[in-house]
Amino acid sequence: MIEHGIAGKVALITGAAGGIGRATALRLAESGAQLALADLDLTGADDTRAQVEALGAEAIALQVDVSNSTSVAAMFAATMARFGRLDFAFNNAGIDGPGGPTADSDEATFDAVIGVNLKGVYLCLREELRLMLASGIGGAIVNTASVAGLVGAPTLPIYSASKHGVIGLTKSAAAEYGAAGIRINAVCPGCIDTPMLDRIIGNDADRRAGLTALHPIGRLGTATEIANAVVFLLSPSASFVTGQAFGVDGGYTAI
Ligand code: NAD
Repeated sequence: MIEHGIAGKVALITGAAGGIGRATALRLAESGAQLALADLDLTGADDTRAQVEALGAEAIALQVDVSNSTSVAAMFAATMARFGRLDFAFNNAGIDGPGGPTADSDEATFDAVIGVNLKGVYLCLREELRLMLASGIGGAIVNTASVAGLVGAPTLPIYSASKHGVIGLTKSAAAEYGAAGIRINAVCPGCIDTPMLDRIIGNDADRRAGLTALHPIGRLGTATEIANAVVFLLSPSASFVTGQAFGVDGGYTAI
């Protein structure tokens, strides 16, 4: 599916080694974007690079730890060295951390999950804004939140807090930079069949059925269904959409 207004644009994706990040890279590549594909998992990011190059897109794979500002700065330096501009960004890298109720959780998990999911988005967003402001031509940014950023997530309290934080960053920056031609939105997936969900539920059929039942549409989502929404939010088709926490959740937050 070709989305207009993407061809020739440079897009950076974090968490590009698999799941939602890879699916979004493939959708952007189909529409003619050039891609910087970053992940802690360089082998996975490089696999994504090979897949998007097979679609005719130009791409580089980069290793990054989004929770580390030095590593993030190096990712942007490498992107600018290769492409010389940044039009779109998808701040998508995230971790879930061990599940369990708040009273049983630990400080190390808090630091790790907030470090990747919230500080990581903050560090990337800050640099993207600086680059887009300097270019003078604006841009569009999507941050990955979650339904757990809109409502609570029993047994994943720290994850839920991190994703609520992502929505706060998104709304604030959207208000700050709308007039500069930079749109910033968050996508809020329901439960999506990706490596992350496999790690959470494994082969537990009852757990899968329980999660499925939370979605009125009667199934879990696919990574491509999130990618479709992200590409829309990045594209000029969404030219009047900014500061939104956009649910793509099979009705999870409708009830
Ligand atoms: P995934 O595990 O396939 O993707 C996450 C990616 O982030 C991985 O490739 C991982 O290597 C990378 N990553 C982890 N820590 C990193 C770090 N410090 N620096 C750089 N990269 C790092 O899972 P996914 O489901 O595709 O997750 C993508 C995003 O979607 C995450 O932010 C996740 O919280 C969010 N999300 C997922 C679901 C779901 O049900 N799968 C639901 C809502 C939100």
